[in-house]
Amino acid sequence: MNQKKINSILPKAGFLPERIERLNDLAYNLWWSWNPDAVAVFQKINPVLWDTVSHNPVAFLQQVSRPLLNQAANDHQYLERYDQVIASFDAYINQKNTWFTEKYPDLTDQQIAYFSFEFGLHESIPAYAGGLDMGLPLAAIGFIYTQGYFVQKITEDGWQETSNFYLDFSKLPMIPLLDEKGKDLLISVPLPGREIKARIWKIQVGRVPLYLLDTTINENSPYDQQLTAKLYTSDLETRISQEILLGIGGVRVLRALGYNPSVWHMNEGHSAFLSIERCRELVVKGKTFAEAAEIVRKGNVFTTHTPVPAGNDKFPVWLVEKYFNQIWPELGLTRDEFITLAKEESPYGDQFTMPILALKLSDHCNGVSELHGIVSRQMWHFLWPERAVEDVPISHITNGVHSFSWLSRRMGLLFDEYLGKEWRETPDNPAIWEKVNSIPDEEIWAVKLHQKRMMARFINDRARAQWLTGSVHPVQTLASGVLLDSDTLTIGFARRFPTYKRGYLILHDFERLLRLINNVDAPIQILFSGKAHPADEPGKLIIQQLYRAIKDHRTGGRLVFIEDYNMDIARHLVQGVDVWMNTPRRPNEASGTSGMKAAMNGGLNFSVLDGWWHEGYNGNNGWSIGTDQLYDSTEKQDNDDALSLYETLEDQIVPLYYSNRNGSNIPAGWMEKVKDAIRTLSPQFSTRRMVSDYVKDMYVPAIRTK
Ligand SMILES: *Cc1c(COP(=O)(O)O)cnc(C)c1O
Repeated sequence: MNQKKINSILPKAGFLPERIERLNDLAYNLWWSWNPDAVAVFQKINPVLWDTVSHNPVAFLQQVSRPLLNQAANDHQYLERYDQVIASFDAYINQKNTWFTEKYPDLTDQQIAYFSFEFGLHESIPAYAGGLDMGLPLAAIGFIYTQGYFVQKITEDGWQETSNFYLDFSKLPMIPLLDEKGKDLLISVPLPGREIKARIWKIQVGRVPLYLLDTTINENSPYDQQLTAKLYTSDLETRISQEILLGIGGVRVLRALGYNPSVWHMNEGHSAFLSIERCRELVVKGKTFAEAAEIVRKGNVFTTHTPVPAGNDKFPVWLVEKYFNQIWPELGLTRDEFITLAKEESPYGDQFTMPILALKLSDHCNGVSELHGIVSRQMWHFLWPERAVEDVPISHITNGVHSFSWLSRRMGLLFDEYLGKEWRETPDNPAIWEKVNSIPDEEIWAVKLHQKRMMARFINDRARAQWLTGSVHPVQTLASGVLLDSDTLTIGFARRFPTYKRGYLILHDFERLLRLINNVDAPIQILFSGKAHPADEPGKLIIQQLYRAIKDHRTGGRLVFIEDYNMDIARHLVQGVDVWMNTPRRPNEASGTSGMKAAMNGGLNFSVLDGWWHEGYNGNNGWSIGTDQLYDSTEKQDNDDALSLYETLEDQIVPLYYSNRNGSNIPAGWMEKVKDAIRTLSPQFSTRRMVSDYVKDMYVPAIRTK
């Protein structure tokens, strides 16, 4: 990529002995996060500190003691590992031939820009980025939120309380971009009556740079500094300002850095104003708006994730007038022409709907699962009334997960042994996964049991730490999993708690649930974890309902709630549980990804046939809850699904797990399903399959039609 030279020298996180000074380079590239050997070169120096800093290598290097560093720098075994890791890091960074360059040698000088409102620093960056191992010429744009995350605490009565979590930028693997004079490189965007400025941070994710906008600088008023403070805001003025900053500001960041992307990928409608800025650039150069829009459309890719109309991002027209009346003349448009770009009529006043803007100005649009594609075509059919619903131009690319961010180390080693190491290079190749059938049941069972014990220990440690604070009631400590047992059939249910995910469904018939979990010969334990959006009162009520049930002494401690769901908890759960359950109200789940993470770790999915599971389920590699039926009545749907859930547990899942154990006390029928799940689901739902679909079906066509 031919970028401008900008000043981005790595800061020094700590003073390192020369022999191991490149730990600093590792700390400032998220590559470490999906390479267990790289994790080990930090962890080995001081395992306790590594946990204390929540596996953040920058904070780790800032705090680790000099004697321990010296000890490592003189330890042969350590140095051997270190040298290997540095060598593979360098090989990765300097790799000339990647999947992309080999497949599309004529497209290596193209650039793809990827815009997203939500790059969770803790949650999705490694997952998203890992899939980009394939060498795409990609740059990503987003925000850094000073208070983007919140900590969840559950009161004794089950109410979710939240506290803000302030990010300390100096402890993040980010570099501020500077101009030639060593000052912050700034871009500006127009808001009513003022220009606001943003500085740019860069995070290096493998070979992909991620640029994050930040308005907390003195040049801005205190109000404007708050714009990049929080991800979730219900204030529409803040929201539209953020989206102007991302869309218009994001284009300006790329220009300031010398990029000239041929593909512009919008993840959700939040960044759709980027099309306005790109049209403006072309109109300024002499094109008419119609000509500009034609060009912009060809390079635009739009991915929608929202199957619920109410979930879509929209603004009242008066607000858009306030923010854009200085911009539409620059596009050569009248007010009405501008508003029409995204107008949606409603009885409460016309709305300016961001996904409509994105759909109308993108030639390449997709949903995130096959079913979600169908739902999206129905939902947006009104924009193409002259077409049949099947011909609405929205396709689908089903999500996938990054194996190396989610797979347990032991399971990975087992795959190395029986599948050969190729599975690490091309996890999307189904032929490689056929060999899963050759893994002896005993070996998978042993790995699974090990993971389950690790999970139980992790949960116990959290419960102990919580009790040690002295600020919780004993029953809360019980509720956080001190009575867990590694020989019991274990079900996980962990995700956000919006109402459509129906976290309450399992409680539908509480007596029946109690009989199931307390069956002395065949007990079940269920682990819950997840946060409700801070403004989602119904979601908090669902958590409360669950928590009150969990505290009921009749559950015998077999229902557990783990506070403050995050990636670390998710990793332990998807690796440890036997069954991963999901109960969305069909067809509201666009894709879902946590079930994919569980499947490759030998967990069996037990889910509504919604989102990805509608495609993944083959009748043998897990279980369905309910059927493909569509419902008019949500009450009837809940009823039917709850009955199906109990029946399947009683008649199929529990007997398969506990009965027919062989001489080694292993349930052979269960293991057959586990292998079928790993074999069929790992390749189909890998990010490598997903990214190659995006390249084939979206990016390359966008480049070629230019
Ligand atoms: C994977 C993951 C999710 C997504 O879960 P879904 O079941 O797909 O909604 C959410 N949060 C965390 C922390 C995750 O790891």
